[in-house]
Amino acid sequence: MAKLDIGPPDYKKNLPPVITKNYGQWKYHDYVKPGVLRHVAKSGDVLYSIRAGSPRLVSNDFIRDICDMADMYCNGYLRFTSRNNIEFLTDDEAMIEPLIAACEAKGLPVGGTGHSLSNIVHTQGWVHCHTPATDASGIVKAVMDDLFEYFKTDDLPARLRVALACCLNMCGAVHCSDIAILGVHRTVPVIDHEIIRKGTEIPTLVASCPTGAIRPDPKNKSVVIRDESCMYCGNCYTMSPGMQIMDPENDGIAILVGGKVSNARSLPMFSRLVIPFLPNNPPRWPETVEAVRNIVETWIRHARDGERVGEWIERIGWERFFTLADIPFSDKCIDDYIFSRETFRTTAAFKY
Ligand code: SF4
Ligand code: SF4
Repeated sequence: MAKLDIGPPDYKKNLPPVITKNYGQWKYHDYVKPGVLRHVAKSGDVLYSIRAGSPRLVSNDFIRDICDMADMYCNGYLRFTSRNNIEFLTDDEAMIEPLIAACEAKGLPVGGTGHSLSNIVHTQGWVHCHTPATDASGIVKAVMDDLFEYFKTDDLPARLRVALACCLNMCGAVHCSDIAILGVHRTVPVIDHEIIRKGTEIPTLVASCPTGAIRPDPKNKSVVIRDESCMYCGNCYTMSPGMQIMDPENDGIAILVGGKVSNARSLPMFSRLVIPFLPNNPPRWPETVEAVRNIVETWIRHARDGERVGEWIERIGWERFFTLADIPFSDKCIDDYIFSRETFRTTAAFKY
């Protein structure tokens, strides 16, 4: 096949030689200390990964710096995890401590493995995207500053995965994280008929609405919205900037808990809504920071060893969770979408 000049290169070309040699032949991995994993192959070969936090939105200079560190300590091999941690990969045990020292000297904390808080995965926020109901990096910075102690130690009851998505299109992992911070719109888009008339494909715009709330308005060469059918998803804004969804007064944050991807001990779980609305309050988002810390500390106080947030809540019951965490229950927490939980596949196993 002809070589293309677009798309990523074949990842196998960039693997460290020890991974290429032992591809598919790894026996187990264990934790050496916070931030350091050891992977052992059937052949006896060993690979160490040293995990450091990253700020997620990074500059060219930052990438050059970490590449220089990888060149110096691990033959240039590093990767980013799905939660935006940087992992330096080396088969030379003697490089672990110098690499950790170099990371710390650059201000990159080493940790996030085992029973600790991993980097918070997040989306684009006000910096880049067009439909955010909240910011991304700013909130994550404030929350992570507050929970930082849990990144560098591994004595939590279990892994702790926090995610942020700045709208419910959810480019983050909020559906499957222990604690999820989700940007929510709460008002129907305001239509700018002039913009719609100037350059919107009306059939595409109508088709973009998942609830069928948008109808053509041929007289005006525009559209109308049936307010009671709108779920404030912002999908229509993607089709036309004439469907203004942003609302500074009413946009904000919802908190969900109890999701996980892992198949270990229990099936993967979806997160569920526990706090329907917190205001956008930059630059330090105190309400959100406090809400997340409260949930983390309640979990630490009451969970058994090895219990993820969702597993703990399933054991004690959701009612008790709301009591222990002192979170008021709201009718917004009731999932009345009758087609979801019974039919969603949440495991790798087939269901007929
Ligand atoms: Fe954009 Fe929504 Fe993704 Fe945020 S979660 S980057 S607002 S699509
Ligand atoms: Fe439809 Fe979503 Fe737009 Fe509401 S915000 S009109 S539900 S596409």
